[in-house]
Amino acid sequence: MADCIFCKIAQKEIPSQLVYEDEQVVAFRDLEPQAPVHVLVIPKKHVASVLALTAEDSGLVSHIFVDVIPQLARELGIAEKGFRVVANTGEEGGQSVGHLHFHLLGGRSMQWPPG
Ligand code: C5P
Repeated sequence: MADCIFCKIAQKEIPSQLVYEDEQVVAFRDLEPQAPVHVLVIPKKHVASVLALTAEDSGLVSHIFVDVIPQLARELGIAEKGFRVVANTGEEGGQSVGHLHFHLLGGRSMQWPPG
């Protein structure tokens, strides 16, 4: 999508600290980290949010959760102690960028409930 900042990051039109890339997915360090490890995992194709996912995306979502996130958690050193995966969705969910992204947060003890 032309004016989507995460599409531009996925297409390398805007620089980012990439930590992972394959045909379907990129992951990069969040510009305003909320934990010692804070990475955003995004599909390269534009999907607006969790609500915009369709059955056609089931392979993509499975790939993100079965392959990418566990691999990244191990590589980034947060798998053993634990981590959090967050998909803020919509206005009250705290979503500020309209391109599906999964926050992968770790390296500190997480609180519950979230703010
Ligand atoms: O869940 P939410 O939509 O608020 O998350 C967007 C995230 O994208 C924020 O954590 C923000 O710091 C991050 N961001 C970024 N690089 C940008 C724009 C936003 O890392 N260029």
